[in-house]
Amino acid sequence: MQYKSTLEFAQAQDAADPLRDYRDKFHFPSLGTDELVYFTGHSLGLQPKTVKAAVELELKEWADYGVEGHFHSTNPWYSYHERLTPAMAEIVGAKESEVVCMNSLTTNIHLLFVSFYRPTKTRYKIISEAKMFPSDRYLLETQTQFHGFDPDDAIIEVAPRDGERLIREEDILAAIEANADEVALVFFGGINYFTGQLFNMSRLTAAAHAVGAIAGFDLAHAAGNVPLSLHDWNVDFAAWCSYKYLNSSPGNVGAIFVHERHGKNPDLPRFGGWWGHDKSTRFQMKNGFQPMEGAEGWQLSNVPILGMSAMKASLDVFAEAGMTALREKSEKLTGYLEYTVDRLAEEFPDADISVITPRDPAQRGSQISIDIAGRERQLFDDMIAAGIIADFREPCVIRMAPMPLYNSFADVFIFGKVMRKLLAQGET
Ligand SMILES: *Cc1c(COP(=O)(O)O)cnc(C)c1O
Repeated sequence: MQYKSTLEFAQAQDAADPLRDYRDKFHFPSLGTDELVYFTGHSLGLQPKTVKAAVELELKEWADYGVEGHFHSTNPWYSYHERLTPAMAEIVGAKESEVVCMNSLTTNIHLLFVSFYRPTKTRYKIISEAKMFPSDRYLLETQTQFHGFDPDDAIIEVAPRDGERLIREEDILAAIEANADEVALVFFGGINYFTGQLFNMSRLTAAAHAVGAIAGFDLAHAAGNVPLSLHDWNVDFAAWCSYKYLNSSPGNVGAIFVHERHGKNPDLPRFGGWWGHDKSTRFQMKNGFQPMEGAEGWQLSNVPILGMSAMKASLDVFAEAGMTALREKSEKLTGYLEYTVDRLAEEFPDADISVITPRDPAQRGSQISIDIAGRERQLFDDMIAAGIIADFREPCVIRMAPMPLYNSFADVFIFGKVMRKLLAQGET
């Protein structure tokens, strides 16, 4: 695609965008500026306008029905989570039986490790990416310690080579090979939160299986961002949150994937709770845990209806727009942001701006991370003050996510215009 840094170009793209009407389905914060550009959907997605009515309905039904709402409300709470499964399964490319919405992300990964990280004295290592999201790193450290291992020995981090920013797939595959007899689990973020690098989950899964290891993924930055085919890729397990790309509200419930070959195995060790117990006998309240078949067999508790009602409203928007159309726009919009950053880097060489996200669209989603080595954090603070809402990570990286559901090509143009002004000021 031939991009141009003009308002006319951006407006023409927006006019031709089949998803252009979705922008109006979201609330935009104003934060006191007229021309606000929200590029932080990778941290907290914006609120779909339909969320309010969905939550208010459940509040009203709670008032009207009390406990009877579990079975007699409009959307009975007893089985409420089942209503979210079809859209969620579609988003991650899974069968409905392989997905359930529950708990929060880090909690879910710990629960899945109970079943899928079962180290022995000789096969106990976990291969993961260097500079993981801190919660995942703490999870790996405490899980290996819990099983009596030293994290420095048990966790093998694959890092970018010296002078590089991205992890080479060949280096991950080599690490798996080199530890073929000792690796129990290959655990990666599907997309690295910092660089935006999308890993080839199909290939990593095959490599893990080839040496007798399990493959699991944290999809916090991948679910709702890039098309996924977890079932076909043969991934063993995955978990993700719903408040970033999936716009479900701050801290809302996450979701898990368990491949059906594991979901059909009731003998797989797990921590049980009544919501994971066979629903046909759940209310007999008898001893003897019998897991539900599929991902639902990992549930513990009855579900938070207010949060899930917000999540349902948001998933409905995804189901309507469709991941194929979202991906198509995401590639164009992310490409335009990349182009805009490249023009700024050319115009202001002393600012030492560079894109660290992969250049290849097949290796990224809706994210561009830029290094601003030549400027201090002040540039980022000025951006926020000027209404460009992005995210800063030490020492000097700005992460931006242009969302195909609610960002426009005009947003990217405005970003370029504001940055040009800020960088020009910095030159004096
Ligand atoms: C956002 C994010 C988390 C957050 O975990 P919560 O348990 O939802 O607080 C964890 N891991 C990754 C990779 C993330 O991007």
